[in-house]
Amino acid sequence: RGVKNVKDIVLQDTFSKEDLVALLQAEGNDRQLLFEAAYERKIQTIGNKVFFRGLVEFSNICSKDCLYCGIRKSNEKVVRYEASDEEILAACRFAWENRFGSVVLQSGELSSPAFVNRVDRLLRSIKQLSNNELGITLSCGEQSRETYRRWFESGAHRYLLRIESSSPELYAKIHPNNPQHSFEKRLECLRVLKNCGYQAGTGVMIGLPFQTMEQLADDLLFLKKIDVDMVGMGPYIEHEDTPLYAFRNQLKSKQERFDLALKMVAALRLLMPDINIAAATALQAIDPAGREKALKIGANVIMPNLTPCDFRKEYQLYEDKPCLDEDADLCRNCLEARIELAGGEIGYGEWGDSRHFFKRN
Ligand code: SAM
Ligand code: SF4
Repeated sequence: RGVKNVKDIVLQDTFSKEDLVALLQAEGNDRQLLFEAAYERKIQTIGNKVFFRGLVEFSNICSKDCLYCGIRKSNEKVVRYEASDEEILAACRFAWENRFGSVVLQSGELSSPAFVNRVDRLLRSIKQLSNNELGITLSCGEQSRETYRRWFESGAHRYLLRIESSSPELYAKIHPNNPQHSFEKRLECLRVLKNCGYQAGTGVMIGLPFQTMEQLADDLLFLKKIDVDMVGMGPYIEHEDTPLYAFRNQLKSKQERFDLALKMVAALRLLMPDINIAAATALQAIDPAGREKALKIGANVIMPNLTPCDFRKEYQLYEDKPCLDEDADLCRNCLEARIELAGGEIGYGEWGDSRHFFKRN
């Protein structure tokens, strides 16, 4: 059987695992062909609009111990914080006044009634302060069906819950071996979120220790199979106060992980042309223009950080996380200029919902 060229693969509408591996391994001219084809597919399908989601990392308190994450429960070096309602609402008001279409509320995972009630209250307040105009995405981990439903009714309409890896074996290697960190539970949560009516988003980390190209190709097929509406995926970046740091010698270089993440975005755009794909913040930790590069090859969502500056240093998921003490992201002209350079036009004041979601419903 003849080996297919990248040039031919990028013209297809359906992709086998072998096709996807070939795309992820593309170098030189082939890599360029992939990037150009993905950008073209994006422009043809959803246009050049880029949507803002103002990111508010409102608490770093977490009950879980994911082996890769800097704010895992066992990291005692982290000073735990919870932003006040006033601080969170001020960040959301900034987003609304600057015509960001939506905000993302993200935190560590807690399921206490106090936490669930607090998020519920915040959702209602955000809807109120913005005359129902701000779209709200939540990213607060695994919760019960009742909680997801309640939050949906209070105004959240999108939810991000990365599967991290679609390989149960790899998932088990990067999480503690206890029922709190169950691959099946995470999958079930994604199903429940969709049933509740959310636009469901998931994604994976790219360049994890032990991860193979075949697993990454399977990750792409997994995203297609579960028919997600939006994807956020970015490079894995080590953090010295985490157990996975012990395997840093086995990692690809940061530049290679960055490049692989771009190829994943491009391949996903070919595979799922009408979904929303976020330009992950972790890209920016490796390359200051990383997010813009992702926009240029298929991403269409960017998440400027609105977390109050004092808290950012305590939301260090990985080393070199950007924007620690500056508000560069909030400089509207700078962001606008960078996005225009990447060929994008900002969808001010629009929710920028996933087209895929409406087709599915
Ligand atoms: N606690 C919620 C959860 O885990 O779904 C939401 C917040 S969590 C910090 C958001 C995402 O950060 C995770 O899904 C994971 O993919 C990413 N993340 C954590 N540690 C990372 C690392 N070292 N490198 C890259 N991404 C990381
Ligand atoms: Fe907690 Fe999320 Fe970090 Fe896991 S990835 S330790 S759930 S904040």
